[in-house]
Amino acid sequence: MAILPIVLFPDPVLLEPTKPVGEIDDEIRQLVSDMEETMYAAPGVGLAANQVGVGKRLCLVNVTAGDDPSQLMVLIDPVIHERSSQTEVGEEGCLSFPDVLIDVHRSLTIEVEATDLEGNRRRWTEEGFTARVIQHEVEHLDGKVFIGNISPLKREMIKRKIKKRIEAGDWESAPVS
Ligand SMILES: [Zn+2]
Repeated sequence: MAILPIVLFPDPVLLEPTKPVGEIDDEIRQLVSDMEETMYAAPGVGLAANQVGVGKRLCLVNVTAGDDPSQLMVLIDPVIHERSSQTEVGEEGCLSFPDVLIDVHRSLTIEVEATDLEGNRRRWTEEGFTARVIQHEVEHLDGKVFIGNISPLKREMIKRKIKKRIEAGDWESAPVS
């Protein structure tokens, strides 16, 4: 396993839709293993492949941020079929936006379909925080980022702050201890 560098906004790989994975081979298994280590080291509760520079439709979610590795979900070629009209506001961060926290409305319940690492395709329902994290990660795979969910005014404010931080050399992935 290896810890991979996390790509930061506005890198173009974060802003392009990823390509389907299809068959699960050794390369994908290695990528998942490295992404798992990277996510726990960050630490984060979710990580999309394009956040480590790989434009493939694959993401990991572990709402315990690695405290319980058995909670790991590997979502290969995920699709969100249903989103409840009932939404909830929650504060979100993103490993590609160090130290940026914003309030985002997300559907409370979703129906998701994805393939696991063993190649089993299934469809199930998630709610609450897990549903939030999956929505955040699938959004990455669609080439979108979480600041797309707030008002244009707030978004421009955040982008201006980021630009200043980039210019000041204060826009780096969290150092891994
Ligand atoms: Zn993110």
